[in-house]
Amino acid sequence: MEQKTEVMGEAAVPTQEPERQMYFMEQVKALVKRRSEEKGRPLTCCINTFGCQMNARDSEKLLGILEQIGYVESDSEDADFVLYNTCTVRDNANQKVYGRLGYLQTIKRKHPDMLIALCGCMMQEATAVEKVKKSYSHVDIIFGTHNIFKLAELLYRKLAGEKMVIDIWEGTDEIVEDLPIERKYPFKSGVNIMFGCNNFCSYCIVPYVRGRERSRKPEDIIAEIRRLVADGVVEIMLLGQNVNSYGKNLEHPVTFAQLLRQINEIEGLERIRFMTSHPKDLSKELIQAMKDCEKVCNHLHLPLQSGSSRVLKVMNRRYTKEDYLALVDRIREAVPDIALTTDIIVGFPGETEEDFQETLDVVRRVRYDSAFTFIYSIRTGTPAAAMEQVPEEIVKDRFDRLLAEVQKISGEVCGRDAGTVQKVLVECLDDHKEGYVTGRLTNNTVVHFPGDASVIGKIVDVYLEESKGFYYMGKPVENMEG
Ligand code: SF4
Repeated sequence: MEQKTEVMGEAAVPTQEPERQMYFMEQVKALVKRRSEEKGRPLTCCINTFGCQMNARDSEKLLGILEQIGYVESDSEDADFVLYNTCTVRDNANQKVYGRLGYLQTIKRKHPDMLIALCGCMMQEATAVEKVKKSYSHVDIIFGTHNIFKLAELLYRKLAGEKMVIDIWEGTDEIVEDLPIERKYPFKSGVNIMFGCNNFCSYCIVPYVRGRERSRKPEDIIAEIRRLVADGVVEIMLLGQNVNSYGKNLEHPVTFAQLLRQINEIEGLERIRFMTSHPKDLSKELIQAMKDCEKVCNHLHLPLQSGSSRVLKVMNRRYTKEDYLALVDRIREAVPDIALTTDIIVGFPGETEEDFQETLDVVRRVRYDSAFTFIYSIRTGTPAAAMEQVPEEIVKDRFDRLLAEVQKISGEVCGRDAGTVQKVLVECLDDHKEGYVTGRLTNNTVVHFPGDASVIGKIVDVYLEESKGFYYMGKPVENMEG
């Protein structure tokens, strides 16, 4: 296919992606090389990631581009290039970033040629970009969630002399494949299957900052997973704001259940995880696929948010308390030993004590392995922000009661596999106990047992000697004879 180009200065620059970014990576690589020769050392970069696993995966892509350009990763923010991949799901996430920008300014005063960039969900908010332009003019590059693949081009524009490079897209239907990625773990990886969300839950800012749902082609996803497995990955986490609605915008629609079955066929892949599932469209077909596909881990994260059908309606969640409980029954019928975790918001506008009791009732009936519990946070621009807020002290009291109930039940259900031998994917050395390693069961529960770095990334049989509430202490099976 003839590569379309545009003329920039003397150069013919490709207009299509990813060729265009490959071109800019080469241009910036030369500039970075010259700078590092001047300094007599490689240039360093530091990416600080806020928020969810989608952001963590985006940061692996951003690091892949920076390393391709010639930067070396550093954990210190005293680096030549510092990038914040921001989150805006709750207001305190924004405040955290503003606080850090002040600190970065002190570093930049000592290193004036240091570059600072911001991207991610917070930068999709016009008010935040205006605040950065006005109060943090030491920031060099600002981009959003839809064009993270353009980092090399934006860096080129900055190094070519632009004052503050700002490139925020309202939305996009573009998905750019085949750019370099530097993943954090050699043995496991997140894999984006779709981007954006069309659900517009009334408290949530995500649809406004991540745009409309668009799914990657199944063949691109399968090809990426095959490359990952060939590169040593045994476990993948399929990522999407709502994976259950995967494939709806594809030219040839494919359901999430069908995609799971295809991925389950991949040789060498051992474990498949996925998040996040919206209860409103977790189909019978998907439950059957979870049952049939032996590589699908027996853990499901199924956000409830509230147990009150009245509140769920105002949240625009499109399921009732009864729908949710019936769904849990269907899932447990198909996968009896599945671990269920959830997200619950306390203090949603208008929530009464009766509503809260409904939430406690669901928690007692479902008996979650664990739950992420959140105090409702006003997000400017969402419908719920304009609603009457529940007084803080009432919310705090409910939050404490909910947490106590969740932790009591979690402590009771998490130990159910004690005294059995289970398969553990070893993730790292145990940073609390010398001579021990840490790993996870397929139901995501943590296990600590004697071992060394040679078993990291391997799936080993471990006898679960004792449950400590939220984790197990174990013994590698091959040591059982001793
Ligand atoms: S499903 Fe609802 S809560 Fe989840 S990202 Fe979409 S709008 Fe937000």
